[in-house]
Amino acid sequence: MLRFDKLLQFVPQEFTEPLTRKSFLQLTGKGLAAGLVGGLAASCKSAQTTAGQDSPGAQPTMTAPNGQTVPKTPPTSPPAQVPAGAEEPIKLEAWKSDADRQSGPTPTPLPPDQRVGYALVGLGHLTLEELLPAFGQCKKSKPVALVSGSPEKMRKVARQYGIKPENCYSYQTYDQLKDNPEVQVIYIVLPNSMHAEYTIRGAQAGKHILCEKPMANTSAECQAMIDACKKANRKLMVAYRIQYEPYNRHVRQLVREKKFGNVKMIEAFNCQSSANPEHWRHKKALAGGGALPDIGIYCLNTLRFVLGEEPTEVFGYQYSTPGNPLFKEVEEVMSWQMRFPNGVIANCATHYNTHESRRYRVLCERGWINMDPAFSYTGQQMKTSRADGKLGRKEDIEMEHKNQFATEMDHFSECVLKDLPPYTPGEEGLQDHRIMEAIYQSAKEGRPVKLPAVAKKDAFRGPEPKLD
Ligand code: NAD
Repeated sequence: MLRFDKLLQFVPQEFTEPLTRKSFLQLTGKGLAAGLVGGLAASCKSAQTTAGQDSPGAQPTMTAPNGQTVPKTPPTSPPAQVPAGAEEPIKLEAWKSDADRQSGPTPTPLPPDQRVGYALVGLGHLTLEELLPAFGQCKKSKPVALVSGSPEKMRKVARQYGIKPENCYSYQTYDQLKDNPEVQVIYIVLPNSMHAEYTIRGAQAGKHILCEKPMANTSAECQAMIDACKKANRKLMVAYRIQYEPYNRHVRQLVREKKFGNVKMIEAFNCQSSANPEHWRHKKALAGGGALPDIGIYCLNTLRFVLGEEPTEVFGYQYSTPGNPLFKEVEEVMSWQMRFPNGVIANCATHYNTHESRRYRVLCERGWINMDPAFSYTGQQMKTSRADGKLGRKEDIEMEHKNQFATEMDHFSECVLKDLPPYTPGEEGLQDHRIMEAIYQSAKEGRPVKLPAVAKKDAFRGPEPKLD
């Protein structure tokens, strides 16, 4: 078969280095390129089609099997920059003007044999609905093993995602993961009370750990998880997806750049409904608490992330409707205030018995930033407001949506591949638990509870991540 690079030998030198669209069109003008690639096209005749008769000057055509005439276009590859580096994106020929939002760089996936292998522990809603599908958008991570108590479910999932039967483990055989070199990371997606045990055993099996939020049931468990991973010299990251999500990251940037002056107040809600009193989320021993550690934690963690500061005082108010079996053991609603050292007051609430609402608004001296929804898996929306003389300006900010789970997993894989500290390490999860414990204490005692002052900004986070 004729190859385009071979054909270029016959093209005059002046047109070959570099082959831009302009030089290519000049070639076309001289009838050279069209002739050359037309010849190439003719040599690639499809088995299912018949070449038509091309008359000089007319658009070449071919005849489809149903007898219809369809145009033929010489195949060409417009100029592209193809860097050799694995992490450098291919740059395609530009065609949009700057009147429109520019698209992001082309993806740079690693070849599958160079990606980090994950074992997913727990095949419930999050794993099946979000995480396994998200691997399809990962560039550095791949699912290679499963751990489940249901062999039937695991067999089906393994077939769906191409996971080898010998890489399927039960909770009883979990520790045998240590003998599987394909697994570098264990992703813990179990009820909250199981996070500590499976993190500690996973680290002892020599694997790096990505653990779902909330990190555990108590701050003491978080500390034990951190210590176990340190002792085993393994990395530990808490899956705070919002800290890897572009819209929330942009809010943080606007706040840090003081785009609308200093932040004065923030209000944040993360509320949803629930219906099954038998589910582990409604058992104190399994969940550690109710709405607060499950979804209220997003308000807490995101505000700490946006401000880079730690609250010095909290005040909580907790309520559960008497007689509702859903809330016999865990709280239905927690409403709380946080006071930050820079004077910011945050009003937050989380509810297990309302239609979903996942939003926050950052009120600054000279404007506000609104995120609604803010904490959802997809579809973040951002609006800002400011005054402009006699005008009030409201702006919808749009940017490329990214799969938060894929970005988060790829960040952890990058840490494993390059031996870097994760952006949301165990210490970040531990700090949330310390604050949640203070909120519960405040709600119980009916008074504000103080927290130790933390002078350093972003004290519990790792270095800024490089996210693609
Ligand atoms: P789920 O109930 O749908 O799944 C839990 C899985 O754990 C099930 O497969 C279940 O079989 C298994 N399991 C093993 N032992 C169990 C036991 N003793 N009791 C109950 N289940 C047991 O829960 P989920 O919604 O997938 O949540 C799992 C974890 O992921 C939780 O820690 C949760 O907070 C977290 N989560 C995070 C997000 C996020 O956006 N990052 C979203 C949802 C859940």
